[in-house]
Amino acid sequence: MMLEPITVHRRLLAARPGWTARADVIVVGSGIAGLTAALRSRAIGRTVLLVTKAQVNEGSTRWAQGGIAAALSDEDSPDQHLHDTLVAGVGLCDEAAVRILVTQGPAAVRELMDVGARFDRDASGAIALTREGGHHRDRIAHAGGDATGAEISRALVAAVREDPGIEVVENALALDLLRDEQGAAQGVTLHVMGSGQRDGIGAALAPTVILATGGFGQVFGQTTNPYVSTGDGVALALRAGADVADLEFVQFHPTVMWLGPHAQGQQPLVSEAVRGEGAVLLDGSGERFMVDEHPMADLAPRDVVAKAIMRRMREEGSAHVWLDGRQLGADTWLQRFPTILESCRSRGIDPVTDLIPVAPAQHYVSGGVRTDLWGRATIPGLYACGEVACTGVHGANRLASNSLLEGLVFARRIVMAMTDDAAVVRDPLPPGSHEGLLPHDARRPLQQVMDTEAGVLRSADSLGIAAQRLRELGLRGGATPSTEDWETTNLHQIATVLVRHALLRTETRGSHWREDHPTRDDDRWRVRLVTRVDDAGRLTTSEEPVTGASA
Ligand SMILES: Cc1cc2nc3c(=O)[nH]c(=O)nc-3n(C[C@H](O)[C@H](O)[C@H](O)COP(=O)(O)OP(=O)(O)OC[C@H]3O[C@@H](n4cnc5c(N)ncnc54)[C@H](O)[C@@H]3O)c2cc1C
Repeated sequence: MMLEPITVHRRLLAARPGWTARADVIVVGSGIAGLTAALRSRAIGRTVLLVTKAQVNEGSTRWAQGGIAAALSDEDSPDQHLHDTLVAGVGLCDEAAVRILVTQGPAAVRELMDVGARFDRDASGAIALTREGGHHRDRIAHAGGDATGAEISRALVAAVREDPGIEVVENALALDLLRDEQGAAQGVTLHVMGSGQRDGIGAALAPTVILATGGFGQVFGQTTNPYVSTGDGVALALRAGADVADLEFVQFHPTVMWLGPHAQGQQPLVSEAVRGEGAVLLDGSGERFMVDEHPMADLAPRDVVAKAIMRRMREEGSAHVWLDGRQLGADTWLQRFPTILESCRSRGIDPVTDLIPVAPAQHYVSGGVRTDLWGRATIPGLYACGEVACTGVHGANRLASNSLLEGLVFARRIVMAMTDDAAVVRDPLPPGSHEGLLPHDARRPLQQVMDTEAGVLRSADSLGIAAQRLRELGLRGGATPSTEDWETTNLHQIATVLVRHALLRTETRGSHWREDHPTRDDDRWRVRLVTRVDDAGRLTTSEEPVTGASA
């Protein structure tokens, strides 16, 4: 398929850096991936500057409810975890990456406990494990019932705060990559809302830059992601010339609480673990429609459940379906899901006695900055881990609770790779031309068109509308450098690549659902779409064959 040529800005419009900071390693982002990368970097004696755009505990990590998946019980094995992950990824997982995830996962989770994370235990004192959609074994470790991410974040932040070799700079928004004459990373430009010497635009210099900026849920109007999830790391890497891949694979969580037709931004999630404990989906007439959809019924992989819900909503002309968790009983709700219980009750719904209205909303992105098995991006000295990265682990769809694990495992591997990679300190080149910026009033129309034309249901027509609207929005002027305008530009660049990939991929696979191409096409599409920007800002997209897994 021929696409119109697209050019994007190579740098965000910003003032020249007015101050400089130096370290051995710069970590951008303070979720599970960034905090782990910082701690592991210290373990090999590197000094770390950890910059994060809001408070240190902001990000998706602290919102994670269900838990972290790892083969921790005697009844489970990495091979079974591998199998379930490959099935969920629908033939696009990089099998070598998945094997690393599942074999190194259990040790990484135990190390997290050594750092201080306290997981829930059963009566015998063993780690309590539950099951989520797509898993054939109980392998989800959780904390505080449904407050897993908050506990992980608490433990990692405490450990980082205790280490004098890690300097944490909050309210520091990374803008663009600084590169030397060899093309290698030498730091980032960033905007700090601080005081004293570190205020305004500065340059954080290091020959090793680890992106851990999380996902880009804010590309859509309704998402479970917090406000910081604007995909800054993916856009930064793209502008710098790194490969980004798999952006078309956006996971929509099937059971996000429906708050009405005008709800926007971060929406409350009702974890899959609630269905793992026995809750079921009902349509408007009270029918359990998942039973005929998949052998695993309500615990089918997420894309299967999200699509079945969308179909049923369309048939019924309704804006949501229902989640029935009444049979769990008050005790289970209180002990296992205190956060969700409170979240429902604060909105006037008591899940012990009431049905919960739910509908799919954006939740997770499988794609991102393309890395090798050691977290290396395609620019020397640049690494990525966590949701910002595309290791190939998730393929066309992420298996529930594999993302926290991916952040942990691949952050550790980056630091192992750093000991081999030559990190040479050189002066960064001054910022080049091709600067630009989009005004923040483009954000809402961008999200609207992404929701309606590039969300769960896609077609050539809808994606064509989205592409055209994005082109129009890209022509808007009047931006002045500010957080909102920098973020809006990032969202626009990501949306542009996402729609491009979604248009090109003329098949339905995993979380990418084309109504005009409703079947999976392995002969044509067992490839990964990879996009990069050339020196003139032109996007080029190529195909990378997928190795190993075929599920
Ligand atoms: C509601 C919800 C529930 C979830 N439940 C689960 C679950 O049960 N199990 C599971 O495995 N996964 C779950 N996920 C997904 C999982 O939480 C995320 O994939 C994971 O936490 C991502 O971690 P991360 O470290 O990559 O990014 P994040 O935790 O999102 O952290 C990103 C960090 O980067 C910072 N940042 C962003 N841009 C910039 C910038 N330009 N400059 C400086 N800093 C920046 C942010 O402020 C933040 O500190 C859930 C996600 C959500 C939203």
